[in-house]
Amino acid sequence: MKTRITELLGIEHPVIEGGMQWVGKAGLAAAVSEAGGLGMITALTQPTPEALVEEIATVRNLTDKPFGVNLTLLPTLKPISYDAYVQVMVDAGITTVETAGRSPEAFMPAFLDAGIKVIHKCTSVRHALKAEKLGCAAVSVDGFECAGHPGEDDIPALVLLPLAADALSIPIIASGGYGDGRGLAAALALGADAINMGTRFLATQEAAIHDNVKQALVDADERQTALILRTLHNTARIYKNKVADEVVALEQKGGVTIEELAPLVSGKRGASVYETGDIHGGVWTAGMVAGLIHDIPTVKELVHRIVADAESLIRERLSGLL
Ligand code: NAD
Repeated sequence: MKTRITELLGIEHPVIEGGMQWVGKAGLAAAVSEAGGLGMITALTQPTPEALVEEIATVRNLTDKPFGVNLTLLPTLKPISYDAYVQVMVDAGITTVETAGRSPEAFMPAFLDAGIKVIHKCTSVRHALKAEKLGCAAVSVDGFECAGHPGEDDIPALVLLPLAADALSIPIIASGGYGDGRGLAAALALGADAINMGTRFLATQEAAIHDNVKQALVDADERQTALILRTLHNTARIYKNKVADEVVALEQKGGVTIEELAPLVSGKRGASVYETGDIHGGVWTAGMVAGLIHDIPTVKELVHRIVADAESLIRERLSGLL
């Protein structure tokens, strides 16, 4: 498949790894790139900018294919020196950066001066238009189905993507809810040029997380997610476990602060789930697509299956209807 995104990024298949905090590490990113998609390491998964230098080098040891670095710009419990992470990306000669969370405006001069293609991930048409105006090369448009932060508008992809396609000139990556060939074919039909997958890549052989988490995704249905931090206008969709229920109950009481929620929602605590396999040990991110996950393939098997299924869907089922 040739799309504006495969051309822009120099990749074989229109499949991109989502920026996943604590999971977007070198091994998985390199596997996605080797499979013909765009692998994505996540800057803030690295405790320091120096550690990001090492992680980038590790990806380069594993693949010579294109990959990207995600920089998430959302509220955090501890201050982050974003400028230092940006400088690492520039100095390392990174070619593609995914920004997310809020406008990348402050960092655009540094990225553009370095010739970096910026993909901004956003959850509304107005933010996508702003990204286009700022010089982003593409946008990743995240529907309400997504894992992580869906924003506050709650517009699912079936409406959001065609609206974005009508409004924008730059290529669009469809994000949120994608996990199989039907999703890829649908995204292309709705006006996107590629899909972005996070949760689906968690349940692969190469994801460096505990097997219990992968199995939890296989066992989950589409109702196994919860929305937390709604009351703080920083909504996050996560796997619905005991901690998620506790957070939702506290928020329903009203007036709860981030300081009160921090012991429950802290990312550090959530990260331990991926290491220990205690799926109720903290909050961890998952999207509604969990309902479509039934196996734990290699990344290559998954990417090739999705592309092959989408191709035969378009060639046989859809054109056969005409
Ligand atoms: P963290 O431990 O600093 O914070 C935990 C959660 O609380 C995060 O969702 C964060 O956005 C939220 N939070 C922190 N301070 C807040 C405030 N003042 N008001 C409202 N909400 C607040 O986060 P982390 O796990 O170390 O993650 C680092 C960054 O990556 C955060 O910005 C987080 O939101 C983001 N993240 C993104 C994804 C994703 O799906 N892309 C998944 C997990 C985390």
